[in-house]
Amino acid sequence: MPGFEVFGDKEKQEIMDVLETGVLFRYEFGEQRKGIYKVRTFEENFAKYTGAGYAQAVTSGTVALKVALAVLGVGPGDEVITQGFTFVATWEAIFDIGATPVFTEIDTTLNMDPVDLEKKINDRTKAIIPVHMLGSGARIDEIMAIADKYNIPVIEDTAQAVGGRWRGRHLGTFGKCGTFSFDAVKTMTTGEGGMVITDDEKIWRNMSEYHDHGHDHLPNPGGRGGEGRSFIGFNYRMMELQGAIGIGQLAQLDYIVASQKKNKAAMRDAVSKLPGVTFRTLVDEEGDSATFLAFLLPSREKAQAVNRVLQDNGAGAIFFADNTWHYYPKWEHLLEGSTLCNSGWPFKYLDGRRKVVYDPEILPNSAEIMNRLLVYQVPVRISDERLQQINAAMDKAASEIS
Ligand SMILES: *Cc1c(COP(=O)(O)O)cnc(C)c1O
Repeated sequence: MPGFEVFGDKEKQEIMDVLETGVLFRYEFGEQRKGIYKVRTFEENFAKYTGAGYAQAVTSGTVALKVALAVLGVGPGDEVITQGFTFVATWEAIFDIGATPVFTEIDTTLNMDPVDLEKKINDRTKAIIPVHMLGSGARIDEIMAIADKYNIPVIEDTAQAVGGRWRGRHLGTFGKCGTFSFDAVKTMTTGEGGMVITDDEKIWRNMSEYHDHGHDHLPNPGGRGGEGRSFIGFNYRMMELQGAIGIGQLAQLDYIVASQKKNKAAMRDAVSKLPGVTFRTLVDEEGDSATFLAFLLPSREKAQAVNRVLQDNGAGAIFFADNTWHYYPKWEHLLEGSTLCNSGWPFKYLDGRRKVVYDPEILPNSAEIMNRLLVYQVPVRISDERLQQINAAMDKAASEIS
């Protein structure tokens, strides 16, 4: 997840354009900005790159999810289905809009299990958010078929898979909306930032207005009509400096993905030395953004024993089963319903009753996979020394754990 690895001259040049005019804001300042619209240009470039009709920049990937849910009309009383292996942001956005998250199992794609998805759909289900975790696509064709059958809109959380594709088509373009994050650790970064893509002009116009207090945006984008508002909104505007960085980062995305693919293949060769190892199921290997390498050992004990040897030899992997950021049974604040709000919202009704109880045991299939899973981030640039170190660590682990 390495946008920061390639930050350099391209981004600096784009930033200088902004600093020279001093217009740090995406709207207005017509004379002073000398025709420079960095956020707007970033949106246009991003839409073109992904093949989406429209792109709306916002301040984070979490906000991107919230804006998408808002324009789809989701709110209190509604349920939104997502998966139990994702970043906390996915369900924070669902709660923030007033809806209730429902969690599905993952399968060996490490993404939403379509069979479990269908079981969890009911009359209250108003959106489905599959997450393309760790750089690779969910079973998006199967998920879309189920969603279409029940006529429920899909928002693809593509925060971790920018540049990823399924059969040549960009992830994020299958659902009604696709959301992206450009935070510190993502494949491309704007420091903080996010994007929502869609093919639906009405959705895009509503997103544009909603993220800017509901102000009328005619012409749209780039201009505010300023006269009135059709609905309540909020402020999630991206600033010009972020747009400038985004332009520079997006221009390098193909290089980033190609480079990661090469490095991932070398790391995979090393990992293949482990007896009994299998790899995450990739629904489209060609379309993998190769941001992570995920592999499975035969048991939790084996995975932990292997990782201890890897750690001792300078090549420790991420053991997501113990990770408190990304895995359902480890989200103690969700399970306990912890909130700063005196009334207990969003976990309780106004009368004080608990809305929903999250049982840590409800995702046994996910646990079975997560307990055996080890993951490496794939860097854009990897030295021969580092590759040798990983190889040596794998040799050690292979000989000690058999
Ligand atoms: C990073 C991330 C987000 C949120 O992005 P921010 O820009 O940090 O708000 C949402 N979903 C997933 C899966 C993520 O990894």
